[in-house]
Amino acid sequence: MLFKQIVGQKNAKNGFLKMWESNHLPHALMIVGEEGTGGLPFALAITQFVFCKEKKNGDACGVCSDCNKVSRLEHADFHLSFPAISPKTGTKAMSRYFIQEFREFVAQTPYASVFDWLQFINAENKQGNIPAEECREIIDKLNLKSYEGGKKIQIIWMAEYLGKEGNILLKLIEEPPADTLLILVAENLEEVLTTIQSRTQLIRLSPIHAADIAQGLTDRSLADTKKAAQIAHLSNGSFAEALRLSQHTENDLFPEVRRWFNALFTNNGIELVKFADDLSKDGREQQKNLLQYTIQLLEQAIKLRYLPHIQPPLPEEEAQFVRKLSKHPVTFDALQKMIESISKIIYHIERNAHSKTQILSLSVQLIYFIQGKKFPML
Ligand SMILES: [Zn+2]
Repeated sequence: MLFKQIVGQKNAKNGFLKMWESNHLPHALMIVGEEGTGGLPFALAITQFVFCKEKKNGDACGVCSDCNKVSRLEHADFHLSFPAISPKTGTKAMSRYFIQEFREFVAQTPYASVFDWLQFINAENKQGNIPAEECREIIDKLNLKSYEGGKKIQIIWMAEYLGKEGNILLKLIEEPPADTLLILVAENLEEVLTTIQSRTQLIRLSPIHAADIAQGLTDRSLADTKKAAQIAHLSNGSFAEALRLSQHTENDLFPEVRRWFNALFTNNGIELVKFADDLSKDGREQQKNLLQYTIQLLEQAIKLRYLPHIQPPLPEEEAQFVRKLSKHPVTFDALQKMIESISKIIYHIERNAHSKTQILSLSVQLIYFIQGKKFPML
């Protein structure tokens, strides 16, 4: 993984490079970012950068033998620990039992979550764990000489899973053997022992900007520009969510939203029935995405009411639609209520409610709001 393959996170990258260039890299880093923001990819990029012998322009070269070994997770001085399960009764949940699976998993997508990982190894209802034995093995491995004569790097992915056993590592983190770099990756810092937190240098990842997510999708040829922009707005700063959506969003959502709103604003009953009929034939994911996207557009319209000169961060057609909506006499309160009603329907659709009825009744509610009438309570 190269830094340039990381989606967004410019501040974190620059922060790391600054430490590196000024020779102030601590021997224990803690990378913290919410699910889907790229904690593991970031740790892998640091590892490759540190091992690479041909670094240039603040990144690894991507072609030298060290880069190759790190990118395959096969470098002899690069160790990985992550939540695992006991493969059979009487054995501990050691990472080494699953290293081959972990290589495959990371090759598919390093942005996936620990939940995805545990499913990948068929953990079913077993909880993942980083046991005390794994901590002891980490200490033993890092106390050995490096195989290739350079640095040794240990990544601990999902440090939350260390639990109290993490205390075993305190001394190692405080005084690691020479030429050793420990990189812990976590999503919820509160769940990591404070004794570990205080001994590591924190690198915070932020939710990824929509523009960076869109770029990440088009760079990977997972979506065209328009679809990428839509997905980026739906994924709440998570590239993992963006990847999931790119697999589930079949077509362009916007023409359907426009068709729906035209029917709503002209109170066209026949068209609204047709719309509900057509949408209910799509999969639930597609239905949810369309409704979620509608919420995003409504929120942008509300924003424009307060800040009429800003350019909505949307493709041009959607931006025009949002501008029109923001100028419509429908009240602010009505727009808010529309968002609430749509959210409620998403909730019901997620729970397998009959989607055609739900969408139709939603349309009726929205017309009430648009026309400024009170929705009759049943
Ligand atoms: Zn290299």
